[in-house]
Amino acid sequence: MEQDYLEEGEEVNDAQLKEIVANVVMKMNGIAPNSNHHLGIFEDMNEAIAAAKVAQKKLRQMPLETRDQIIDKIREKIMANKEILARMAVEETGMGKVGHKILKHELVAKKTPGTECIKIDAWSGDQGLTLVERGPYGVIGAITPSTNPSETVFCNGIGMIAAGNTVVFNPHPGATKTANFAVNLINEAAKEVGEFENLAVSIRKPTLESGDILFKHPDIDLLVATGGPGIVKVILQSGKKGMAAGAGNPPVLVDETANIRKAAEDIVNGASFDNNLPCIAEKEVIVVDEVADELIYYMLSENDCYMLRGEEINRLANTVLIEKNGKYMLNRDFVGRDASVILKAIGIDAPEQTKCIIFEGCKENLLIKEELMMPILGIVRVKDVDEGIETAVLLEGGNRHSAHMHSSNVNNLTKYGKALDTAIFVKNAPSYAGIGFGGEGFTTFTIASKTGEGLTNALSFTRARRCVMSNALYIR
Ligand code: NAD
Repeated sequence: MEQDYLEEGEEVNDAQLKEIVANVVMKMNGIAPNSNHHLGIFEDMNEAIAAAKVAQKKLRQMPLETRDQIIDKIREKIMANKEILARMAVEETGMGKVGHKILKHELVAKKTPGTECIKIDAWSGDQGLTLVERGPYGVIGAITPSTNPSETVFCNGIGMIAAGNTVVFNPHPGATKTANFAVNLINEAAKEVGEFENLAVSIRKPTLESGDILFKHPDIDLLVATGGPGIVKVILQSGKKGMAAGAGNPPVLVDETANIRKAAEDIVNGASFDNNLPCIAEKEVIVVDEVADELIYYMLSENDCYMLRGEEINRLANTVLIEKNGKYMLNRDFVGRDASVILKAIGIDAPEQTKCIIFEGCKENLLIKEELMMPILGIVRVKDVDEGIETAVLLEGGNRHSAHMHSSNVNNLTKYGKALDTAIFVKNAPSYAGIGFGGEGFTTFTIASKTGEGLTNALSFTRARRCVMSNALYIR
């Protein structure tokens, strides 16, 4: 079977799907006979940038309707290939869950805004008509993470193309095949609409060096980075306009007025989604003492959690964290892995369906302070809501990314929201409601909390231009 992607409505069985995934991977590795047919994938970063520059000039001349048609086609391609993309990502990175990644692709296809979110401002009066038109930056350089490799490519791609830009990706080296397969699908979509090519481009073997070319290239007009603290620092120091969607360590606070049974279910569902890879996911729980036992009871009895105690907690820390020169780093072998796999590594046999590992600890505990991206939830007891808010501010670490709370007291929710001051604040729901999954609003996989754009969409990727017509065109 030569096939390596699906069209909308095309159905295949499990064996055929496996074969398609194997085909795509072989071609992405460059070891299949027709490997080079993937669209938008270059060997060299300078060539990729040059191609995206030519493509942007062509896109700019096309009507908005053409951008809409391309975006509709991209949405179709994502829906048709969501299972291939999900399987590829899990196979390539070893992280996350296929079922949840399918849902993330559905979300990105259905709720990433296109041109409709690009609004204009207008003033009309005695002195004429002034408009603020939103135009493209030009060619955007985008850095994508291993945790949402294709979701970020699609989300950035849709928003950036809707705004009239083209985009050059330098994907995470550990998730390149999945990211590049997404780049290829964007170009397949554009080609079907109007013989467009290279609206999104990437390179076959991204490295720090190819990233460096991208950051410094004079034809790159905007940098958009989604990833951890390392890349955020690089973007902020690049000397170019940059949007940095960095790390978070989202706390979730439960006070004594919350519906505790629902809070337990929502927190475990949010924290275990895609094995805790999403940057918005609950990464530690802070709970008022009065209801702490009840919360733990529901987590254990109804939500497939496994509780660690005493020495087991130290074993976990020694396994999932690595000490180097007095500093602690994540052991990447356990990022995004199933709870039962992590438990096995510390000598505990737990059922495969275990969703989350929980334990009680203090706010200084490294497993609570660090962003782990593993289905592990430390629980910190506090005497009241004020101590809870203080603890949450400390653990959020000034990222101002995401924070969540379960409470029925509006004053407490307001106090928490003001104190945390994060780009996303979800109340009484799983964290993923914050990106439009079971919550109102559009979705994004690039939350630029560090540079203040918040949840990015097509409008974020436009420049404002004031167009003034003096003493004419007003008809009032
Ligand atoms: P990562 O930081 O290891 O890599 C992200 C990207 O940055 C990759 O493409 C990588 O190659 C590049 N990169 C990293 N350091 C670099 C450097 N010094 N120079 C040049 N390029 C560099 O992150 P990851 O493990 O792939 O993804 C998880 C991280 O991303 C978490 O911290 C998570 O919170 C964050 N994240 C944030 C958002 C958001 O919207 N704010 C979304 C997804 C992930």
